[in-house]
Amino acid sequence: MVRSNNAQTRANKKMWASGMANSENGDTCFFCKKGKFVTRNEDIAFHQWTDRGYVFCRVKLSLGVCDHCGSRHWNEDAEAAIEEAIQREYNKLPK
Ligand SMILES: [Zn+2]
Repeated sequence: MVRSNNAQTRANKKMWASGMANSENGDTCFFCKKGKFVTRNEDIAFHQWTDRGYVFCRVKLSLGVCDHCGSRHWNEDAEAAIEEAIQREYNKLPK
């Protein structure tokens, strides 16, 4: 696989992986356009409805959180981790 040798692209890869790419300033919040996304490790706990009932999941994620409005930017890694957690809990439920 050939990739352009671009240090900035590499550094910002996570920030724009699933979002609207903003090549120069990839970490500006696209909700409020004022803040910056700072990467934070967050413990996310949530319920998800499935055909076997509710599953309760808890995941540790590395997310971009806006320092101005607090919006969370979910990157592909975060979404994948959530999917995985749901699947894991789902498989524990009785059929
Ligand atoms: Zn913001």
